[in-house]
Amino acid sequence: MCRHLAWLGPPRALDDLVLAPEHGLLTQSWAPRRQRHGTVNVDGFGVGWYAAARPAPVRYRRAQPIWTDASFASLAPTVASSCVVAAVRSATVGTSADESAAAPFTEGRWLLSHNGRLEDWSGARKALREHAADVPDARTGVDSALLFGLAVARWQGGASLGEGLASATTDLLAHGGGRLTTLAADGESVAGVVCGEPLWWRREAGGVVVASEPHGPDTGPDDDLDESGWRELPDRTVFVVRPGAEPETAPL
Ligand code: GLN
Repeated sequence: MCRHLAWLGPPRALDDLVLAPEHGLLTQSWAPRRQRHGTVNVDGFGVGWYAAARPAPVRYRRAQPIWTDASFASLAPTVASSCVVAAVRSATVGTSADESAAAPFTEGRWLLSHNGRLEDWSGARKALREHAADVPDARTGVDSALLFGLAVARWQGGASLGEGLASATTDLLAHGGGRLTTLAADGESVAGVVCGEPLWWRREAGGVVVASEPHGPDTGPDDDLDESGWRELPDRTVFVVRPGAEPETAPL
């Protein structure tokens, strides 16, 4: 499964979140420690962030491995944001290979990253397409785009970030099942779903980071990770992170 992270807190440089951590997304793209499906995440990457006084996020993505993009490495230390979603991709067989299938997906003020796999994507697409918002990022040939379209339809209909994500996810999983984690943002909060794949969080630099894997240095065996402040979110959960607060969880 792909690897992703979200940040909510004081403005923080993209470099500090994505490239610099010893076991951050850059390292996870070629040497994830806890990935149960797939071995590397080299089929593209993306970063979405919010700039001051601009409700819609900025989104940067490429179809290439993150370590091959010297341009991203040069801009990342100069851009800081209080709300960020980033992902490195391991493409599911049968999905588009181009940049348009790399997370995060965006529409309006929303961002969404999806890590996982749907067992019957084409069946779900036939059954649910008419319930998905017909926005550009929902038209790409990847299961994540269908999930995004379903979530956008709910958000546009007035659902909160967490409610819309949870309801889109349960509708999708009702068609054939699957396993996933998702991370969504609207610039003021971060929400996500955990279902069959792990997601971790930690207080860092005055904010909260949520990630597929702890990104600090190895402190010893895996069960030492709690000592560095990481906690695993419970399975089958929807969670919301608001400024200054720890994740609030509810059953999916
Ligand atoms: N199915 C999604 C894709 O193809 C996510 C894949 C993953 O989590 N490895 O991009």
